[in-house]
Amino acid sequence: GTALQEAERQVPSVCPYCGVGCQLTYHVKDNRILRVEGRDGPANHGRLCVKGRYGFDYAHHPQRLTQPLVRRADAPPKRGDFTMDPSRWQEVFRVATWEEALDLAASRLREIRDAHGPRALAGFGSAKGSNEEAYLFQKLVRTGFGSNNVDHCTRLCHASSVAALLEGIGSGAVSNPVMDVLQAELVIVIGANPTVNHPVAATWIKNAVRRGTKLVVCDPRRPDLARHAWRYLQFKPDTDVALLNAMMHVIVHEGLVDADFIAERTLDYEALRRNVEGYAPEAMAPVCGIPAETIREVARAYATSRASMILWGMGVSQHVHGTDNVRCLIALALMTGQVGRPGTGLHPLRGQNNVQGASDAGLIPMMYPDYQRVDAPDVRERFEQLWGTKLDARPGLTVVEVMDAALAGQVRGMYIMGENPAMSDPDANHAREALAALEHLVVQDIFLTETAYLADVVLPASAFPEKTGTFTNTDRTVQLGRQALTPPGDARQDLWIIQQMARRLGLDWDHAHPREVFEEMRRCMPSIAGITWERLEREHAVTYPCPEEGAPGQPVVFTDRFPTPTGRGRFVPVDVIPADERPDDEYPMVLITGRQLEHWHTGSMTRRTGVLDALEPDPVALVHPLDLERLGVAPGGIITLQSRRGEVSLYARADDSSPPGAVFVPFCYYEAAINKLTNPALDPYGKIPEFKYCAVRVRPGGRV
Ligand code: SF4
Repeated sequence: GTALQEAERQVPSVCPYCGVGCQLTYHVKDNRILRVEGRDGPANHGRLCVKGRYGFDYAHHPQRLTQPLVRRADAPPKRGDFTMDPSRWQEVFRVATWEEALDLAASRLREIRDAHGPRALAGFGSAKGSNEEAYLFQKLVRTGFGSNNVDHCTRLCHASSVAALLEGIGSGAVSNPVMDVLQAELVIVIGANPTVNHPVAATWIKNAVRRGTKLVVCDPRRPDLARHAWRYLQFKPDTDVALLNAMMHVIVHEGLVDADFIAERTLDYEALRRNVEGYAPEAMAPVCGIPAETIREVARAYATSRASMILWGMGVSQHVHGTDNVRCLIALALMTGQVGRPGTGLHPLRGQNNVQGASDAGLIPMMYPDYQRVDAPDVRERFEQLWGTKLDARPGLTVVEVMDAALAGQVRGMYIMGENPAMSDPDANHAREALAALEHLVVQDIFLTETAYLADVVLPASAFPEKTGTFTNTDRTVQLGRQALTPPGDARQDLWIIQQMARRLGLDWDHAHPREVFEEMRRCMPSIAGITWERLEREHAVTYPCPEEGAPGQPVVFTDRFPTPTGRGRFVPVDVIPADERPDDEYPMVLITGRQLEHWHTGSMTRRTGVLDALEPDPVALVHPLDLERLGVAPGGIITLQSRRGEVSLYARADDSSPPGAVFVPFCYYEAAINKLTNPALDPYGKIPEFKYCAVRVRPGGRV
């Protein structure tokens, strides 16, 4: 083969994709990344998946934004149903100087704020930015715009998990790191497809199985990991609560509860016990499609193992009953005492590289940094003192609520940093109409995304390898990403851009280095108060809680108490709530959306990456072979999917991992944006949309 080019520099950093947070080394020459290698981080020990290893050249893509853009006076009117053609961007935008772009971006937002009040503005930050960027962004919205209308894509992934965890055990983060699977006797993976979405985590799970750990996989779609499972429970879509309540019924009836743990560390057990009475496995078996004996067997094994751990993903959280699903998982762990020790606990597998950190940093409309509630007067007073300004006592709007408010004319201006709601929001046509209806939209990104296409001002930002900052992975480990490249053209550091916007909104910030922002964060976030920048530079990674300097950091938490006012965890009984939109004669099939191994979320990065795009170049729907046969479509043929909200055409791939009647589509393809079809119905607690279930019909043919 060809000899590897010699790198000039090697820069230790972190993977920009998923929440596993693999450490890596960039090999750089002439301001280009030549290759990426795994590094010995706590989550990966040298391992990387295909995204981490090959997904870097998006940073060098010719479509990178390198100059500020301003919408032309003679641009065609904004429309929600636009067809984007990036090569004809000049018909929509003209190049501007930074001075002009920033003045225009901020002055219109200021005018809207002054004319219509602070709640007429909203901001979406990003789970791909650093902790420092997330922190400054939410501070800008809270102190510069003057409201709590700030959110990010955590709303679309684990908002329901966080709602249930905060309510039940006082903390929204994981109790144990992924690596603890190696110490578990039994691991349940439910509603997650780690080989695709958390690939290096999946390798540790497989290693654990090889060492004797019993793996239970529960998912309506059969994930690859099911091949390694001791038991695979392919329950019917949408029947999580029935299955989990039935397991609890068994544990109660067979006397497998941990009575001491319940007595010493929990509240409201009696209510839960009474509730699960109505969920005998025999009664639930036909509901969820799992034999009663299998439910019993798995329940017994979970309850009686030396250490049992539960990991879950979006299959649990993205339902109108997402919070209820997680309440069940918490109850299972509490009633059996399977939490607070190595190899036990609750692990919501966080999606993006920094969705944990962005949530911790306060990119949430009801919480300041570290989940301190905006409607608690004493908390608010503290932040008012720290930030030197009056703060709004009312919680702000969430992602989907902001879109509704924009369409209703209540939100008139937005600042979006590094998110792509035109692709990622449910009922994307509606989201695009809402974005188009805004009087003023500022988008800060590295590509002209579908969202940026609707902007009035586009600010060219820096890609992951072009900046330094801290990122918090799914294990609560804070890690340092280091700058390896200079941003192209006139693209700038996100921290610089946020501060330039802030200045023009009347704020006086001057942080020359992310270290200074991190210092401020430490002052208002007890979880990371003890982590110094120097230590991160030295050790690369520190796990919080780390309340004082020199503390080791705690991979396993809740060892003797939960961080609730009473120190106890709380049982919350739940009953079955059906999906918002069930199949019927008109729309007889179920649509499930998610991700593919090679692509990342809305595809803006991975589809501009040579290797990854070559592996998965075309929009596909995964359809059961029996359904394809019924439709008369050969594998590889084109089908059109239609829901009450929209339709898209794409290639059909025969795939029997979903049950007949269910279609799976990744949401990364702009030419077949599947979120045009999804249902924006929300879970009432987490306000997360039901991406994992809506009714569709499928017909042969269409145009891709
Ligand atoms: Fe990156 Fe996640 Fe793959 Fe690790 S597992 S290399 S963090 S995408």
